[in-house]
Amino acid sequence: MRYADAPEQEAWRQEVRRFVRRHVTPALRAELRARGNEGEGPLARAFHGQLFDKGWWGIGWPKEFGGLGKSAVDQYIFIEEMEAAGAPGMRLSITSVAPTIRRVGTDAQKQRWLQPILRGEIEFAIGYSEPDAGTDLAALKTRAVLDGDEWVVNGQKIWNTGAHTATHNWLAVRTEPDAPKHKGISLLIVPMDRPGITVQGLETWSGIRTNAVFFEDVRVPRDHLIGERGNGFYYVMMALDFERITLGSTGLLRRLLEELKAFVRRTVRDGRPLGAVPWVRRALADLEMRVEVGRQLGLLNAWLIDQGIVPTKEGSMAKVYVTELNAHLASVGMEILGLAGQLAPDDPAAPLHGRLQWLYTTAPMQRFGGGTNEIQRCIIAQRGLGLPRK
Ligand SMILES: Cc1cc2nc3c(=O)[nH]c(=O)nc-3n(C[C@H](O)[C@H](O)[C@H](O)COP(=O)(O)OP(=O)(O)OC[C@H]3O[C@@H](n4cnc5c(N)ncnc54)[C@H](O)[C@@H]3O)c2cc1C
Repeated sequence: MRYADAPEQEAWRQEVRRFVRRHVTPALRAELRARGNEGEGPLARAFHGQLFDKGWWGIGWPKEFGGLGKSAVDQYIFIEEMEAAGAPGMRLSITSVAPTIRRVGTDAQKQRWLQPILRGEIEFAIGYSEPDAGTDLAALKTRAVLDGDEWVVNGQKIWNTGAHTATHNWLAVRTEPDAPKHKGISLLIVPMDRPGITVQGLETWSGIRTNAVFFEDVRVPRDHLIGERGNGFYYVMMALDFERITLGSTGLLRRLLEELKAFVRRTVRDGRPLGAVPWVRRALADLEMRVEVGRQLGLLNAWLIDQGIVPTKEGSMAKVYVTELNAHLASVGMEILGLAGQLAPDDPAAPLHGRLQWLYTTAPMQRFGGGTNEIQRCIIAQRGLGLPRK
């Protein structure tokens, strides 16, 4: 067993690093901070264009679908380096929706959807949750009824993040009302420009916008139902497994920890170097350890995928560990920064551009996304440890 990158992995890491060093400019980072999730600005669009041209959105995709056919470990290295540089994040369309279509879509659906996703021409919002269906997703009520060659959709989604900028919605709908609740759901691609869709904004603590979305007699072509009718619940679980794997990356943590260490090294407080204060030294050493553990968990997941194993317990472990570490690093980091650490990113006096304050306010949301951490612990107990369901 070896713990270092193999020579070809190291070469790949250096190639990604050279690219981000040239293309992730301070202006691009400032634009990302300013826009939040209000759609791409011109610099982010240009950056994505460069990635599309290089085929770097489809790093792990098979070559027949326009990808590079690289391993999951290579993909992990890519995400780690992108996050560490502060580059725009990977889109769920690429990391969750597309792999699901590749696995369960018909040949015609793969032809129709995969290339436009890879080229960035279409962007999905994820529409699973409803006011009465979150963790218990199989309770969802939004209906789709076949009328000739079209599905007619009626109902409401909530927390439909990105629905205000997305071109399409990846929507879980009930198509078989008489079937048992887990077997009555299908996955439908709904273009957001269809008549009958109303999007209402919901603002979260960190300023990131999510949405309540209403569907009233929205008509969608019949062939927009992905895979098999009635199998949607299982496709959603598959898409969530893919989503969780990217949630477990530690590139952002590594970057913030590096910035925090640099702050400690250059700061003198009350006539004493901050790095000489015992509790600060202990806190930094502790964070260094935890970030490395998170990184090893992420790599373990990638390695398992490369062995042809679908990580379930390990995917949940990485998701829980890294999202909770985000909150911990933000909290400890803000204490180290002192009072000014609480200033928001738009305040010019905020140390580290207010990034730790931003992480502090976004971290609770990450514990919900991709299935709550309580549920991840249930998955680890049941599927990982073989403990009874109740
Ligand atoms: C900011 C934000 C963005 C989101 N974006 C999206 C999105 O883009 N698309 C989308 O579809 N959804 C999205 N979600 C929804 C998210 O996935 C749900 O919030 C999550 O699945 C939990 O559902 P719920 O909010 O209905 O809580 P509930 O399911 O009502 O759960 C409430 C609490 O009870 C706990 N709980 C529930 N059941 C159990 C159990 N059996 N055992 C132990 N504990 C349990 C949960 O862990 C949670 O802490 C988003 C949520 C937020 C807050």
